[in-house]
Amino acid sequence: MRAVDIIVKKRDKEELTPKEIKFFIDGFTNGDIPDYQASAWAMAVLLNGMTPQETAYLTLAMAHSGEILDLSDVVDIAIDKHSSGGVGDKTTFVVLPVVAACGLPVGKMSGRGLGFSGGTLDKIESIPGFRVDLTTDEFKDQLKKIGIVLTGQSLDLAPADGKLYSLRDVTGTVQSIPLIASSIMSKKIAGGAQAILLDVKVGLGAFMKTLDEARELSGLMIAIGNLAGRKVETVLSDMNQPLGSAVGNALEVIEAINTLRGNGPEDFREHCLQISAHMLVLGGRAKDFKTGRRMAEIAIASGGAIDKFRVLVNKQGGDESFIDDIKKFPMAKIIKTVYADRKGYLTTVNAQIIGEAAVALGAGRSKKEDPIDHAVGFLIHSKVGEFVERGQPLFTVYANDDGKSEEAKQNVLKAFGWSDQPFKSLPLFYD
Ligand code: URA
Repeated sequence: MRAVDIIVKKRDKEELTPKEIKFFIDGFTNGDIPDYQASAWAMAVLLNGMTPQETAYLTLAMAHSGEILDLSDVVDIAIDKHSSGGVGDKTTFVVLPVVAACGLPVGKMSGRGLGFSGGTLDKIESIPGFRVDLTTDEFKDQLKKIGIVLTGQSLDLAPADGKLYSLRDVTGTVQSIPLIASSIMSKKIAGGAQAILLDVKVGLGAFMKTLDEARELSGLMIAIGNLAGRKVETVLSDMNQPLGSAVGNALEVIEAINTLRGNGPEDFREHCLQISAHMLVLGGRAKDFKTGRRMAEIAIASGGAIDKFRVLVNKQGGDESFIDDIKKFPMAKIIKTVYADRKGYLTTVNAQIIGEAAVALGAGRSKKEDPIDHAVGFLIHSKVGEFVERGQPLFTVYANDDGKSEEAKQNVLKAFGWSDQPFKSLPLFYD
């Protein structure tokens, strides 16, 4: 078998066999198939798609490219959650400590930034020392001892996804339902969680632009999860506008810490409470959604959740003093607030434009090896449907370069749509 023939077959819209998929994924994982061939293949998949069967085989091949964790001897049930990617999505930093504080063990493998969407690992690395390269034994040991883990793909868990993910980020091959489904589900299957909550984002700042696409991705991931014997639930949530206010690595971690202290933006707090409630029900700790939401509220109000976050940061080598003194986070040199030059109702706060502007500031990557600037990004001060007065703060730019700051300002201004007539706010969830 030759990699080039498999690329050509996909280019010509033919269905790949399980053997061909396995050959390609194994070869890519062990380095026999170089990045340029994997990139060409990913583009062919993006353009020509895959059948649900091909996607399931791809997921299993990627999950089996490393070890598959069995957590049944570690905890009675381990839960995991994953978002399909969005702008300003720092949910993990809140819901992991919340559900862990409610007694539900949660072990999560996250990714880095992808296209215009931010990455949980890039964000958490704003806290110096935080290790995202735990070994399998460390993952299990930590889950057993403290009931909370947040790590990246280690070399021994779904390594194929780790490699492919970083290539897709810089080769325009993110926006593909089979590639997203297999990327997410291979990590989740390898991570060993018995119950998985998937947050499928939909809208301008999501990879799924329409509800139909989001439902397709959601159905595919549920089917793959069930095939692998996991309990899977999905929610479809809005990603037309950024979630919360902060976009950018350190800014988002700070907003999550504020939320864990009971002070975050209302939409983000509500999103986290609902995701936590679903997880608590799915993991059998709450009898229904209402009880789960109440448990999550108490975990925040009692300080149990922030304490759990502190334990997590400390255990993974991070400097926990950042949690109590957020001034320690890297701060941009240039901080400029932009004010509305008109009054009216906001009709759009385009999350994709804002996500792309954040990447251009240095919050994401244009090439695989690009470093991340943790300090840069935006605070967005208003939401769709709000009435904004002329002269009211619209957004604040955090930059480390004058030219980039001005460019970001001009780009983000284009994210705002206006109307003189009242405009409906956006829902947090669709399904
Ligand atoms: N999240 C992932 O883990 N993979 C994707 O492809 C998209 C979002």
